[in-house]
Amino acid sequence: MALGELTEPDAPYTRRSFSPMFLKGREWLSQRFAEAGMAVRIDAGGNRIGRLAGADPASSTIMIGSHSDSVPSGGRFDGIAGVIAALEVVRALRNAGRALNHAVEVVDFLAEEPSEFGLSCIGSRAMAGCLLDDMLAYRNAGGETLVAAIDRMGGDAANITQARRDDIAAFLELHIEQGPILEATRTDLGIVSAIAGVTRVEIRFEGRADHAGTTPMHLRRDAGLGAAATMAFVAAEAGRLAGTDRGHFVATTGIVTLSPNAANVIPGEARLVVDIRAEDDGVLDAFLASLDAQTSAIAQATRIERAGWKILSRTRPAHCDPYLRKLLGQSARGLGYSTLDMASGAGHDAAFMSTIAPSAMVFVPCREGRSHMPEEWATPEAIAAGAATLLETAMRLDTEAVPADETPMQGAWQ
Ligand SMILES: [Zn+2]
Repeated sequence: MALGELTEPDAPYTRRSFSPMFLKGREWLSQRFAEAGMAVRIDAGGNRIGRLAGADPASSTIMIGSHSDSVPSGGRFDGIAGVIAALEVVRALRNAGRALNHAVEVVDFLAEEPSEFGLSCIGSRAMAGCLLDDMLAYRNAGGETLVAAIDRMGGDAANITQARRDDIAAFLELHIEQGPILEATRTDLGIVSAIAGVTRVEIRFEGRADHAGTTPMHLRRDAGLGAAATMAFVAAEAGRLAGTDRGHFVATTGIVTLSPNAANVIPGEARLVVDIRAEDDGVLDAFLASLDAQTSAIAQATRIERAGWKILSRTRPAHCDPYLRKLLGQSARGLGYSTLDMASGAGHDAAFMSTIAPSAMVFVPCREGRSHMPEEWATPEAIAAGAATLLETAMRLDTEAVPADETPMQGAWQ
């Protein structure tokens, strides 16, 4: 709640990455990290990291954390709960006088939310070695390059490869669910199976813009009808695939633009963008193939052209490490909490971390599943349950490292 108070005053709760308010929040966090006995630093990618040394100096690192930036007029829990819970793990270890063999690091990743540079997960991309030169050249509206902005945050973008890590034994992230399932099923905690891959497809139809009053129905070439039929197909097909046992699947037609978009003109053009999220890449491929075939068929049936089909972006699903999932679930249930295996439909830093280290996530319920808004809320008890589960998992990991034969199922986020 104290960190939440550090917000742009006219738009609670706003702490945009790269802003002076973001730096204020991080300064507050640094003080808490230091008070908990951690050495505080900023890596080349601009990630703020607190480190509690392990008893065995040769041992690898257990990293726990999330992000402290927010969307505009966002909430006090998305990301922040994960950083604070990680801090609390270190506090609890210190209070109990318990030193782990492993070093424990608390991380506040730089700019997880979509930033003014049109890029999200900047810090975790850097740590995973996925922040490429062309991305570093991105500019914000004021003309500043991402390189300069990372340096302004205390990073060292010229040496960005130094942010890349190969010493992480496990990465754990607590996050609010941002969906309604845990609350609806009265489950204490979600154990995340995978972070869904996200694909966006742009579809364009071309018909003919004719007079809405004088053109008989049977002579029309209405691109809007193609858009409408496509929207109906997307929802129906996604509903069918969501009912299978192949994991989380959703699809949304979030953008529909008709032109000329006038009441008395038959739409001559329609542009749609469909957002598709899948836990199983094979299901996504099948959906894309049927969407491709169906939109061609729709165009033919309505005497219009399908003038465009373009995959705008695609990330593959990132699977959480099976051993860490098991350990998180056992730890939670051992503490008396109920758990549910579930996929994440939203993206997280853990997706990038899963490409370099065994990674897993625990979800805590949030009120009505709402997030990215001031009403976002999770109870202290729910976050405490998640934090206690992280602590228990970290202690167990300290003595039972992730077995080498249980190789992480690495995602291919980029
Ligand atoms: Zn988040």
